[in-house]
Amino acid sequence: MEVQKMAKIYYENSVATDALTGKKIAVIGYGSQGHAHAQNLQDTGHEVVIGIREGDSADKARADGFEVLSVAEATKQSDVVMILLPDENQGSVYEAEIKPNLKAGDALVFAHGFNIHFDVIEPPADVDVFLVAPKGPGHLVRRTFVEGAAVPALFAVYQDATGNARDLALSYAKGIGATRAGVLETTFKEETETDLFGEQAVLCGGVTRLIQAGFETLVEAGYQPEVAYFEVLHEMKLIVDLMYEGGMGKMRHSISNTAEYGDYVSGPRVVTEDAKTAMGEVLADIQNGTFAKAFTADNANGFPEFKAMREKQKGHQIEAVGATLREMMPFVNPKN
Ligand code: NAD
Ligand code: MG
Ligand code: MG
Ligand code: MG
Ligand code: MG
Ligand code: MG
Repeated sequence: MEVQKMAKIYYENSVATDALTGKKIAVIGYGSQGHAHAQNLQDTGHEVVIGIREGDSADKARADGFEVLSVAEATKQSDVVMILLPDENQGSVYEAEIKPNLKAGDALVFAHGFNIHFDVIEPPADVDVFLVAPKGPGHLVRRTFVEGAAVPALFAVYQDATGNARDLALSYAKGIGATRAGVLETTFKEETETDLFGEQAVLCGGVTRLIQAGFETLVEAGYQPEVAYFEVLHEMKLIVDLMYEGGMGKMRHSISNTAEYGDYVSGPRVVTEDAKTAMGEVLADIQNGTFAKAFTADNANGFPEFKAMREKQKGHQIEAVGATLREMMPFVNPKN
């Protein structure tokens, strides 16, 4: 592997000018990321309106005290338009409601580069286009901000029409609090491909399949499902928290020598070189557009494949066992 030089990381003090001051920001969508960006930006002194279609999260935005407009009207009134719709809906909403209402010098902003990188959205030449992508779930973008902490973020400039796009991107990142944790510069290509790879191979797809396989192995061998749940799912968080705080070193310091010895001898037997080869294939499908094409095509048909996979996963035994056990541990699920 080629050794790269260390990335430059921006913190509170290295983002001096507030390029976002005095600009009106339209947060389009009020879901996981939308509510967090809107509330954090408002708390750091920025003017925010919500652009959304009528329905559940429109009422939530109103209940949270925001002015709620149609996507078209919010775009028209604002200088900075942050698109926080589901990736699969961004293209159609952009064409119908956003594009006709953009004016020269506006900024079009994303939290994930998918639609720009895969050419679903082709913005006009006279607007700034950049992304500010928190590296964490939206509910934690808000929760950590309220606690005085933050989720780190990436930023990237795709198009600098005003000469101000980079300052604006950094200022936006500061506005949602991300400079408290660190903000790294990237490209749309790097953000899109690494984000898709991370969630598919490791964070979401990799971890859930690893947990299920461990649970199945124990239950099929005759052990109690409740014991298996605590062993391979509940305890996952406790182990990951130690790695989050102090890397693998802190986790391995905290576990017993028995566990640490077993970690070294058995980890590579389970996650083998074949698994790494498969990760390379997943990455290639992301890079060459195969994944984006499949996701987009399934969406165009009303997501039949997606919905079938979601239903099948909901039916896994570990979900029912876990639901019962968590009833007795209300502290594991504090309401957001
Ligand atoms: P979400 O599904 O939680 O919320 C989407 C919002 O858009 C909802 O308020 C919904 O009501 C609204 N909406 C959906 N279709 C609409 C339409 N046609 N017109 C108007 N409003 C509509 O979305 P999310 O998970 O927050 O993702 C938003 C963006 O942030 C995506 O680009 C995603 O890749 C990126 N992102 C998400 C996370 C995350 O934590 N979920 C993390 C990093 C980046
Ligand atoms: Mg979601
Ligand atoms: Mg993602
Ligand atoms: Mg991600
Ligand atoms: Mg143990
Ligand atoms: Mg130890």
